[in-house]
Amino acid sequence: MRVLVTGGAGYIGSVVTRELLAAGHEAVVLDSLVTGHRESVPVGVALVEADTRDGASVRRCLRDHRVEAVVHMAAISQVGTSVTQPREYYDNNVRGGLSLFDAMLDEGVGRVVFSSTAAVYGEPERVPIEESAATRPTSPYGDTKLFLETALQRYGAAYGLRAACLRYFNAAGAHPEAGEDHRPETHLVPLVLQAALGTGRPITIFGTDYPTADGTAVRDYLHVVDLARAHVRALDATAERSCTYNLGSGTGFSVRQVVQAACRVTGRDIPVIEGPRRAGDPAVLVASSSRIRAELGWVPRHDDIEAILDSAWAWTQRHPRGY
Ligand code: NAD
Ligand code: UDP
Repeated sequence: MRVLVTGGAGYIGSVVTRELLAAGHEAVVLDSLVTGHRESVPVGVALVEADTRDGASVRRCLRDHRVEAVVHMAAISQVGTSVTQPREYYDNNVRGGLSLFDAMLDEGVGRVVFSSTAAVYGEPERVPIEESAATRPTSPYGDTKLFLETALQRYGAAYGLRAACLRYFNAAGAHPEAGEDHRPETHLVPLVLQAALGTGRPITIFGTDYPTADGTAVRDYLHVVDLARAHVRALDATAERSCTYNLGSGTGFSVRQVVQAACRVTGRDIPVIEGPRRAGDPAVLVASSSRIRAELGWVPRHDDIEAILDSAWAWTQRHPRGY
């Protein structure tokens, strides 16, 4: 199919674009480059530099490239910043999403894969988290994603738009040609590796008093290539129906375990400072991914933290200053 990837110049989008190509699809990227990098778009893939809120440009892009389906990844996505700057988040993510869906309806594009997030669950009552768990976001960022999921359900019922909503847990690791380069970087894995490389600061562990085995917060890290491959399967599923899936490995690692694994993978000492909790961080977020495994036959190939760190370390060494 001819697939438009919004946010395709970002960390995950650049890998999704590559996996779509590998699966035999054609791809075009639409990205405002607000946080993305032109250099991350594969050679030969058209980059339309535009904002999803610019409906005329999005419609023109859908028409000019005869787009048949969309993977909608364009968003700003820092939980903490969304609390202090909610306007920006509702405007960029909600208005941008609605503008894109309108353009799709206008141009007769009826299938979308949407990047949602574990942040739609808020503080979970039970782990691993199943898709049927209550959705109670604790941040404006989580709100924006849940709003668009709901809009997609309503648009499905009213206009027949078919959507796969993918609730990602922690994406990490790198594709051989594309890695993580957020500026400023806030994610644990790239920060740990920058510290190992000596180009970053010591790692501050946000909270050592969580009710977990070693007192630090536990997350479910999923290799970005496995995450991207799930999009290809989800896109196929939208041929027939709408669906919602968690995307995680199903295994949790604490912050200390990630740092220790990074020391083993890099063979370097990683300086650590113990700090207070980061506002809004739940103690444990681990996905049940049994629904997508059972229904789409998706199986992550890299199921341990060292394999994830290894791929990210290779990319970090080749790109010590990012793109
Ligand atoms: P990223 O910042 O690297 O990529 C987002 C891309 O979207 C960037 O290239 C940015 O320039 C573009 N963009 C943002 N707003 C835009 C707009 N209005 N119009 C056009 N382009 C716009 O982030 P990422 O980590 O690759 O995340 C990709 C998607 O996955 C996001 O929707 C994010 O909310 C979601 N997500 C990411 C994670 C994670 O662990 N990184 C977890 C859950 C969900
Ligand atoms: N974290 C940390 N120090 C850092 C960055 C992150 O201790 O410098 C912790 C954070 O509190 C969370 C985990 O590492 O428990 C993963 O954080 P990240 O920002 O990578 O992803 P998030 O879970 O917020 O999406």
